[in-house]
Amino acid sequence: MQIHNLGSREGARLDFGREALWRRLTAPLAALAVRLPVYLVSEAQMDRLYPPERRRFFREEKLRERLQEVRAQEREREDGEDDPFAPFQDLDDAGPDTWGRVSVVVAAGLYVRRLDPGGKGGIAGLAAQDPEPGAVEAFKTEEGPAIFLCPERILAWAQDVRVPEDLALDKVYCHELGHAYMDTADFHPDPYGRPWGRVVEESLANLVAFQCFQGAEALWVARMIRKQPPEYRGYAAVATHPVLFHIDLPFRRHPVFREDYLYWLHRYDLPGRLLTLLLFPSPLDVGNLNLQAWQKTKQLGLWQHPEAEWAWKAFARLLLEEAVRA
Ligand SMILES: [Zn+2]
Repeated sequence: MQIHNLGSREGARLDFGREALWRRLTAPLAALAVRLPVYLVSEAQMDRLYPPERRRFFREEKLRERLQEVRAQEREREDGEDDPFAPFQDLDDAGPDTWGRVSVVVAAGLYVRRLDPGGKGGIAGLAAQDPEPGAVEAFKTEEGPAIFLCPERILAWAQDVRVPEDLALDKVYCHELGHAYMDTADFHPDPYGRPWGRVVEESLANLVAFQCFQGAEALWVARMIRKQPPEYRGYAAVATHPVLFHIDLPFRRHPVFREDYLYWLHRYDLPGRLLTLLLFPSPLDVGNLNLQAWQKTKQLGLWQHPEAEWAWKAFARLLLEEAVRA
């Protein structure tokens, strides 16, 4: 595993050589862990690296209020909502106040597919201590994909929720490996840029991380996630609600949509087991099913089809509703 300390003061306190960390990783995560370099960075370096367009987060209070309003309106209306995510579209906030409030729990780690050579300048100058020998050189030639971790934030988060430091590191690292696993949008735009896409992906990344832990450790991870913004907290709902048939949603267009989407899946020969699952109850884990469906949706750009986009938006809404209810 390649670890480079680019300037984190606390970096030396984190131990990546622990057997406990390696035992957590499933085969797909281990395959990524041996391939992707990890850079340890200071808070200032992380703030420079974190893409500005990704600094949008849902405000919990506003979200709760809007959900109540929307539910009241829907009870009165006869027809279904055209765009299930429309009422929440304007609720994610990009102000500097928001960043200051959430950066510890959202920018403790970062997965980057491709590093823009123009954005690398000045990183060394933002180090909190001298970079490790060779780290700056490695970063200069780094093209990505790569993972960045901010030990200062990981430790602050661990202290805040009173969980062991090693566990907090493993949670953040597994979450970023989860993003790497879902990074399949090679030939199509990445739906992460849409608020609903962020809800789906962050919830799934936290589910991937959560599944690396068991027992009391899993509860500690749940405690960490509880501090994150609502779009990160749908991990429990994403483990139990299959994306294709969350029939508990009150949308009347649903049966029609379902037929269309299945037609689409079929036309693109999309994962056969999703189709069979509709006919036969299967022991396949629902969370993993959603994970595979999201990977395929990104890989084939399926979400660009209105019916498929509708399904993911409705799903994202369900995840947000469950997140603020829990
Ligand atoms: Zn994430």
